[in-house]
Amino acid sequence: MGDSRALRDRFQNALMGNYGVPPVAVVEGKGCVVTDADGRTYLDLIGGLAVSTLGHAHPALVRAVSEQVARLAHISNLSLHEPEVRLAERLLTLVGAEGRVFFANSGAEANEAAFKLVRKHAGADRSYVVAAQDSFHGRTMGALTLTGAPRARKSFEPFCAEVRHVAYGSVEELRSAVTAGCAAVFLEPVQGEAGVIPPPAGYLRAVREICDATGAVLVFDEVQSGIGRTGRWFAHQHEEVLPDVLTLAKGLGGGLPISACIGLGRYGAVFEQGDHGSTFGGNPVSCAAAHAVLDTIDGDDLLGNATKTGALLATGLAAISHELLAGVRGIGLWQAIRLTEPRARSVEAHAREAGFLVNAVQPDVVRVSPPLILGSDEAQSFVESLPALLTAAQTVLGDEVTP
Ligand SMILES: *Cc1c(COP(=O)(O)O)cnc(C)c1O
Repeated sequence: MGDSRALRDRFQNALMGNYGVPPVAVVEGKGCVVTDADGRTYLDLIGGLAVSTLGHAHPALVRAVSEQVARLAHISNLSLHEPEVRLAERLLTLVGAEGRVFFANSGAEANEAAFKLVRKHAGADRSYVVAAQDSFHGRTMGALTLTGAPRARKSFEPFCAEVRHVAYGSVEELRSAVTAGCAAVFLEPVQGEAGVIPPPAGYLRAVREICDATGAVLVFDEVQSGIGRTGRWFAHQHEEVLPDVLTLAKGLGGGLPISACIGLGRYGAVFEQGDHGSTFGGNPVSCAAAHAVLDTIDGDDLLGNATKTGALLATGLAAISHELLAGVRGIGLWQAIRLTEPRARSVEAHAREAGFLVNAVQPDVVRVSPPLILGSDEAQSFVESLPALLTAAQTVLGDEVTP
């Protein structure tokens, strides 16, 4: 016992302070349950930040990764390999359009690729890019330039490109911001880090029309919303609006690092030899993991489960009547519990004590983004526990900290 505390102390001394010291030291997981260093178990409703599509230690993922690492772990982009070619083909089929794919390792890198792609395509006359307020596109300098969330941006100015941020969901603001001088519009079809915010009906279609009318490239950042999270392969499929460039990451590898920047139509041909690269991007092991994820989503109807269990979760949560509960918002297995006060940190802490991992994504919003294999009984157990957690969070003393 006490191993968690000792590990946290060592973490604090050896790792940089950018994450603080996380509260749980996880040792292993199975399905949607993880075990900490003290032997306590938790229902993982964070899913590694919408990454662990198949939960933990899923046999299909274990087998695919084990077989691939035993055969060929890495070869670099100086050679090609079949798993990456087939993965690119599969993603294009899922998107349902012609195009070409670049593989990288993280969401930020996929967005960097997209940023460079639109820069090269646009030429000097189109000097700026438009993105949304409170958006999140990653932490590298380029991706951070796109990111609208003030808490991510603060301390890192000046940025390396001109990005104009408009209110998410406002067609009028977008229309006045996107002129002939605009190179591209970067948008999350559902905002994730802002607190799981779906677009107003018709918004994505209007964005598409504005981009078509002005020649701005439309980039959808589906790093968090893609790969089944919302009950469709991609969130943009709910409105049947295709972007010009699509970025994917989190859920794609089921926990192995892989991301993709997909250029549709002529945007697949913007990069020429030497324009971009990544040493690790699209490595065979991560590609094998992605195949296992796509196979299992397909074979086990996890899109159906995201819709069905997501609806169960949403209606169960929405039926709770509690002073601290302002409402529930989300789509598929991606729900935000909105609070009437900034007590998300406290709800997160009490949930943890009760054996549930959830995430205070905003001071007054708790995010639930579990594995897509979440069972209805697991969803139900959280729904039943929430009223007591809210009450505990309400009565606890102490200051709320911004997450
Ligand atoms: C998490 C996230 C990113 C950044 O991904 P990293 O893998 O952390 O670089 C980019 N865009 C969106 C929408 C995200 O949710």
